[in-house]
Amino acid sequence: MYDILSMNLEEIKILMSELNQPAYRAGQVFEWLHKRGAQSFEVMDNLPKAMRAGLAERCRLTPIREVTRQASKDGTVKFLFDLSDATVETVLMRYNHGLSVCVSTQAGCRMGCKFCASAIGGLVRNITAGEICAQIYAMPERVSSIVMMGCGEPLDNFDASLRFIELISAEKGANIGARHITLSTCGLVPEILALAQKKLQINLAVSLHGASDEIRRQFMPIANRYPMDELISACRTYAETTRRRITFEYAMARGINDAPQQAHELAHLLRGMLCHVNLIPVNAKGRERSHFTPTPRKEIDAFAAILTEKGINTTVRRSLGGDISAACGQLRALPKLEK
Ligand code: SAH
Repeated sequence: MYDILSMNLEEIKILMSELNQPAYRAGQVFEWLHKRGAQSFEVMDNLPKAMRAGLAERCRLTPIREVTRQASKDGTVKFLFDLSDATVETVLMRYNHGLSVCVSTQAGCRMGCKFCASAIGGLVRNITAGEICAQIYAMPERVSSIVMMGCGEPLDNFDASLRFIELISAEKGANIGARHITLSTCGLVPEILALAQKKLQINLAVSLHGASDEIRRQFMPIANRYPMDELISACRTYAETTRRRITFEYAMARGINDAPQQAHELAHLLRGMLCHVNLIPVNAKGRERSHFTPTPRKEIDAFAAILTEKGINTTVRRSLGGDISAACGQLRALPKLEK
């Protein structure tokens, strides 16, 4: 069976020839799937009946099923979707400039970050490009930007994540431009370098959380696999190859990575790079029993001031959806649903 929601236009054209249909039909099918969010072939009423039957025979088009929807006081909405053998969470956020969706790129995650709930049950399975798209199509309103910051490590599901970007930015489809998409990674060096070669216009965010290996390892096991100098060198290559500014995410944990000295080290580490630092108070309600407490706002601002003074563009991120466990570090793969 073909996973048609993960197929690009070229692949659908090949499928059309298998069905003895003219190539232009591929565009119609693609539009139905990616622009109009069709959930079945029957609804595609500008296609011949026999062709719809042919598609239904060869392709699976299992819709994701919304299980729950929780709304936060701040307007953020968290969705739990059933993918039949796994579940994922997706978060819809309201900003002045429009709606942003935080999608999951894996069911669960195997990166093991110590402060993040997504790591609790390990990786359940990779999800498909179509299943990432389907999270967007299930939103109740038109979305203007996407962050790949939900459950999972997008570069650990590299092909599906890239295919998702291709599909969601297609003009014939949802047409959400690459510049409105941010991919966040915990720092998989070979994949960052491979991504650089694709020269996409997306925004790359790298979860750094420390200016030295010693500190980074307290949060993220991946820091044992790729030392800081390799990571930073890959980021420099990325910025130079794509000419796109990298965002470094830095979750601030009291007494661990928030001393003024570390702001100086961070500025030194990033000197001369086309980049931007996004500070965020660590969310203590991420992984249970994590011993991190958030740095108070005043000290975050002081940390930001040092970076800014050193010429590093810095912002402090506003946390959304904390009351419904939808904030950074709180998304997770819930146990499989009983049918
Ligand atoms: N795997 C990717 C994307 C998912 S996490 C990555 O690691 O970047 C999205 C962001 O939330 C990352 O920067 C992650 O480090 C951060 N995060 C995870 N747990 C957090 C917590 N408890 N408090 C604040 N940020 C957290």
